Amino acid sequence: MRCLVFSAKSYDEEFLNEAVSKTKSHALTFVEARLTETTVGLARGYEAICCFVNDQLNGEVLTTLAESGTKHIALRCAGFNNLDLGVAKKLNMGVARVPAYSPHSVAEHTLGLILSLNRKIHRAYLRVRDNNFSLDGLLGFDLYGKTIGIVGTGEIGSCVVRMMHGMGCKILMSDLFQKPELLKFGIYVTNEELFRESDIITLHCPLNPSTLQLINATSLAIMKRGVMLINTSRGGLIDTKAVIASLKTAQVGSLGLDVYEEESQLFFQDRSQQVVQDDTFSRLLTFPNVLMTAHQAFFTREALHEIAKVTIENLDDFAAGRSSTRTLV
Ligand code: NAD
Repeated sequence: MRCLVFSAKSYDEEFLNEAVSKTKSHALTFVEARLTETTVGLARGYEAICCFVNDQLNGEVLTTLAESGTKHIALRCAGFNNLDLGVAKKLNMGVARVPAYSPHSVAEHTLGLILSLNRKIHRAYLRVRDNNFSLDGLLGFDLYGKTIGIVGTGEIGSCVVRMMHGMGCKILMSDLFQKPELLKFGIYVTNEELFRESDIITLHCPLNPSTLQLINATSLAIMKRGVMLINTSRGGLIDTKAVIASLKTAQVGSLGLDVYEEESQLFFQDRSQQVVQDDTFSRLLTFPNVLMTAHQAFFTREALHEIAKVTIENLDDFAAGRSSTRTLV
């Protein structure tokens, strides 16, 4: 199958080429361009395309793809909030994703954000390099004995539950479906109870219409004063302007983000020579108690290897007319 890989970086090329070399069953072409209404023309004549988190798969783009001969979409990610499933179904397109590649990669990055934010390691690193050995402003707290609220106990959330239990935290969990095997680590509560009781809140649910801006002025107001908020899931789970207001009043004590609502305009590119036009994003970066990474939680060798392997398996399934648990349409 001929497949055009959008938003391709050197590491995508390396891992996908390695995975496809085992069967040589597909011809992959890589383009750095993000899939948008402007770049969709590049896919003309390709039976399949391969996309990532910030590629635009809205109704307009899907319709153009179908008209120009694309029948299959292999998402090389777990989340699919960037794709209009209803339109893909109507157009009879095959869509598959990589539901779980390495939940540990994202869970471990989450832990990294919690530890760095709490003990201000990112700030300490810069100070020491500047021969500033003062500890003023670097005070943290023991994680041991604190209450952490984990929203969503799927693949990634479950890993976070186990890790934080190991750190000696009290675990509160919320999910639409409870996992009995996690009950030895903590208890399930409603999102509202979790928001009220937690010292640290970390988000691991998908972005969909019911979770859009789950963290907003109302939910922020019932949280403990000084709460630490972590989001390695999807930017749209948080109303960023409301969080900025809460950072200004210290209702939110610290914020760790790997994702941002409007990240598609920013992330995965070197923009160090440009003036960032997104004032909300720039405001976030001014807070000493905000730590941001640019959607890198998935970025481990093991995760990239698994993403590439499963993506090629999804292309194999398309070619053979098979569906699997990874098939969305
Ligand atoms: P998953 O599907 O295994 O788990 C998601 C869980 O959230 C499910 O158990 C689901 O029932 C639950 N859920 C749904 N709505 C909820 C709600 N309103 N309240 C509480 N729980 C709810 O997914 P996963 O593999 O654990 O991934 C979680 C999210 O992490 C993905 O949706 C994706 O957006 C994000 N992600 C981010 C990165 C990154 O690099 N930052 C990488 C992979 C995944």
